Amino acid sequence: MKRGFYIGRFQPYHNGHQSVLERIADEVDEIIIGVGSAQLSHTVDNPFTAGERVLMITRALASLGCPFYVIPIEDIKRNALWVAHIRSMTPPFDLCYSSNPLVVQLFREAGINVQSPAMYERDTHSGTEIRRRMLKGEPWKTLVPSAIVRVIREIDGVSRLKEIAQGD
Ligand code: ATP
Ligand code: MG
Repeated sequence: MKRGFYIGRFQPYHNGHQSVLERIADEVDEIIIGVGSAQLSHTVDNPFTAGERVLMITRALASLGCPFYVIPIEDIKRNALWVAHIRSMTPPFDLCYSSNPLVVQLFREAGINVQSPAMYERDTHSGTEIRRRMLKGEPWKTLVPSAIVRVIREIDGVSRLKEIAQGD
């Protein structure tokens, strides 16, 4: 059983994540998706809760055709222990997919094989750009799967972001 691990904050989940996961699905038997900084929500950089992000990812991948687990991972602020922390929360895996240099370094040091997927239209497909557009009232819905548009509507996510971005 070959399991691949992929981690992000998914604030929110977007088409870049979806495109990477669709490719990973062709290469492994099961995918483990770690929802990082799980303890954070209701901030301008991290508006959505871990549970809301689990909902987004689960709905977006409903027809992926590859079994997957979505697991919230809280920050421990100890880089040297971070991989062990992740492994304590997930099914066993042999392979990690990441392009983040720190993530790559920490997994390699732990003896785990790492592959770095190519970026998908990174100029527009980034959480930072999508949150910026939500705040400015600019178009963002084409950058995320339709399931994500529905979840953000259900939780009134754009109003939340605008509300918490205001000073007191
Ligand atoms: P933010 O701007 O909030 O950091 P992000 O778009 O970088 O959001 P993350 O949740 O931080 O998304 O990233 C999760 C993983 O997805 C990271 O490894 C990141 O490199 C990767 N990723 C982000 N955008 C893309 C993209 N357009 N194509 C492929 N991979 C991406
Ligand atoms: Mg990022």
